[in-house]
Amino acid sequence: MAYQTINPFNNQLIKAYTPHSDQQIEQALAQADALYHSTWAKGDIEQRLPVLHKLADLIDSRQEALAKIASVEMGKLIKQSRGEVALCAQIARYYAEHAKQFLAPVRYDSSLGEAWVEHHPIGVLMAVEPWNFPYYQLMRVLAPNLAAGNPVMVKHASIVPNCAVAFEQLLLDAGAPQGAYTNLFISADQVANIIADPRVQGVALTGSEKAGSIVAAQAAKKLKKATLELGGNDVFVVLDDCDLDRAATVGAQARLNNAGQVCTAAKRFIVHQQVAEAFLQKLTARFRAVTLGDPLDEATTLGPLSSTSALDGLIAQVKNAVDHGATLHYGGEAPQHDGNFFQPTILTNISRENPAYFEEFFGPVAQVYVVQDDDHAVQLANDSHYGLGGAIFSGDIERAKRLASRIETGMVYINSLTDTAPELPFGGVKRSGFGRELSDLGIKEFVNQKLVVVSRH
Ligand code: NAP
Repeated sequence: MAYQTINPFNNQLIKAYTPHSDQQIEQALAQADALYHSTWAKGDIEQRLPVLHKLADLIDSRQEALAKIASVEMGKLIKQSRGEVALCAQIARYYAEHAKQFLAPVRYDSSLGEAWVEHHPIGVLMAVEPWNFPYYQLMRVLAPNLAAGNPVMVKHASIVPNCAVAFEQLLLDAGAPQGAYTNLFISADQVANIIADPRVQGVALTGSEKAGSIVAAQAAKKLKKATLELGGNDVFVVLDDCDLDRAATVGAQARLNNAGQVCTAAKRFIVHQQVAEAFLQKLTARFRAVTLGDPLDEATTLGPLSSTSALDGLIAQVKNAVDHGATLHYGGEAPQHDGNFFQPTILTNISRENPAYFEEFFGPVAQVYVVQDDDHAVQLANDSHYGLGGAIFSGDIERAKRLASRIETGMVYINSLTDTAPELPFGGVKRSGFGRELSDLGIKEFVNQKLVVVSRH
């Protein structure tokens, strides 16, 4: 796909970017590999951590400019873009402060002798990243791996090239050595060639199930480790004993944040029958109250989808759901506008035979299901190909905890929307992928956990 900045608020082309040639890729690979073999990557971690500290400070100092780039390029509300930028600084700072402890040798008691595990970088990584959090997704891979000493080459989504360039510039300005982070405007075939290259030792992809299975197969064919952060069809469980107003307010936010384009958005609302009618009314009221508009306008509460193809896809999905018997409870329209707007929408009465039942809707469309009891809620929650996150709202924390343990996902939040923080592991099971990003777990994905044993004899 062509690398272009198109403002999703009006679909005006702002800038087209020149793709990188095979020769440029070779230069980038050689540079990254040379860095991997240098004392900077393989030596003391203390040499690398100042880059992350500087990076965090630079991001904070450029918050407004970075936020504006993202809002203009992929339609995120300016306030949410600022939040994303701030989170990126937190992640960089978190690894600057904790990576040394995470990568310290770990001692093992053994009858064979004195034993410990050291953590070493493994080589150049190829990262493929999506547009929906155009900085945060990059930072989740970059920060831990810069600390660990793995050079990172990145193919960002083709609709956010300006974010890609801005992020690379941050690294250069923070003093990262050449090759530590390289942005590449490249095709899927070029990504495959890079993955096949012996200098590349790991692959991280965040994106759709389709791209994940293609890229993971390429990595597997060459016996390279991959982490996959893919789609989700997260539940938002509303139990009969919860604070319904709060559940509706947080639920609307959990579905509409980032115009509904969040992997861990609340996509399936599973509501106890005793409160189903009241919750639906409250959720509908919150959906009705949104203000569509320019993402740069502070008064806007729902921006456009990221691209015309995203909008066309969502329109087709909603139509298909209704054609297969779903009830369009609220919304369902794409207002007449140059931008990629879609009304907040609520679908009910979705049968298991309806294709919508198993599909991820990547936009402001909520599915609402009614259940008789907790067992039914768990059964419905787990009847999904995905297993990313989920939320449970209840006034009884012990009851919610019991449900949380039974839900087959990588993350569950109680009385909150599914969130993220540098110190918490992020990732899923089933078709939502494998591996974890962030926290102590994320930094261990692409390191050689090398055992050393000193024999007692
Ligand atoms: P996508 O189409 O898979 O795109 C993601 C990235 O993969 C882009 O850089 C894309 O490049 C690239 N790509 C696509 N096909 C490829 C191929 N065959 N080889 C190499 N690269 C390829 O995903 P999307 O639709 O933009 O993003 C939305 C999806 O990502 C949703 O399913 C969402 O749930 C998921 N997501 C998951 C997480 C998580 O952490 N689990 C976070 C965010 C999003 P182009 O742009 O050039 O096509």
